[in-house]
Amino acid sequence: MTQNDGTHPFATAALATPAAGAPFEAVRLPRRALRDDDVLIDIAYAGICHSDIHTVRDEWGPAHYPMTPGHEIAGTVAAVGSAVTRHKVGDRVGVGCLVDSCGECAQCKDGFEQFCEKPSVGTYNSPDYFGEVTQGGYAQQIVVSERMVLRIPEGIDLDVAAPLLCAGITTYSPLKRWGAGPGRTVGVVGVGGLGHMAVKLAAAMGAEVTTISRSDAKAEDAKALGATRHLATSEEGALKAARSSFDLIINTVSADLDMKQYVRLLRPHGALINVGLPPGDLAVAPGSLIIGNKVIGGSNIGGIPETQEMLDFCAEHGIGATIETIDASDPKAVDEAYDRVVDGDVRYRVVIDTATITPA
Ligand code: NAP
Ligand code: ZN
Repeated sequence: MTQNDGTHPFATAALATPAAGAPFEAVRLPRRALRDDDVLIDIAYAGICHSDIHTVRDEWGPAHYPMTPGHEIAGTVAAVGSAVTRHKVGDRVGVGCLVDSCGECAQCKDGFEQFCEKPSVGTYNSPDYFGEVTQGGYAQQIVVSERMVLRIPEGIDLDVAAPLLCAGITTYSPLKRWGAGPGRTVGVVGVGGLGHMAVKLAAAMGAEVTTISRSDAKAEDAKALGATRHLATSEEGALKAARSSFDLIINTVSADLDMKQYVRLLRPHGALINVGLPPGDLAVAPGSLIIGNKVIGGSNIGGIPETQEMLDFCAEHGIGATIETIDASDPKAVDEAYDRVVDGDVRYRVVIDTATITPA
């Protein structure tokens, strides 16, 4: 347990990559002294999101190095600033993709801090309001403004809670907005970190869920996660047979897909919502949307109030992520995990046990 009370700047054990594509190293990462509204968190677990990989590998640009990624953070409060009222030492807490926002613009006031007009500050690789670039959660401690810190309800273990902070909210938000529930059919494209959460959440909301994956390799798992049907796109005619069968499709795939094929799977008035963030463009003919009043859209993480709502929903329904925990005492374990994520080989989210990070 830390003795750090946050009154002075300090360094925490962390994993950092010095340049695009370079292996991770264990380092001592500087963190600021607590401001009045700050919370110091002892991080227990940090999930590996595919966005970390896109960012670290400089697929999105501009990336700042050295970089400590990580925006699926779960731990406990170790110290609080003098004006903190929402959290106290010992509380189980999480941090997702946001560590600051202005708190005053229309978007912040409406609970959409991710669209803050100032703009919002991401958990890593993001310029903050004080001239620094943020560093994320592959670390043992982090300092975050209390407004961006979520309560992790009792009943969700911290390891399976960590991925909820990005994969959970990113899928909960569009499922809720576009009406996943009883009597509605939901297709989830890509059964990875986000996809497996979409299946669990949509099933818990009462929708009938179909997984759409490249092969049958995840078919059994998909049923256990809550899907009633699994389609393998590698099978000739599988998508054709599913035409006009979904009210909502959540596309979580991290690579470019032929959108035309997926728009055809929608029923009239259906929506195809992209959360996967590959670098390419979407191409659909307007007519394919007009015939059937179809919608193609996107969804970006979720604001703080909705993220808390999602965590409470997960606690109520007994939902956590399905995870593989890794020991990072050799930082190569993280590089290897990245390759496995890209290969679609993870079941279904890798979580770093941050206690194992050991700088020389
Ligand atoms: P992930 O764990 O790697 O899952 C992606 C899944 O996509 C894979 O499991 C695989 O599913 C499928 N896939 C991968 N390559 C494919 C290909 N070439 N063709 C077809 N399917 C392929 O990644 P994740 O962490 O869930 O993230 C998914 C995407 O969402 C990333 O682009 C990430 O940056 C983005 N993201 C967006 C937001 C947001 O706010 N919108 C938030 C977080 C992440 P199967 O094996 O089942 O085919
Ligand atoms: Zn993420």
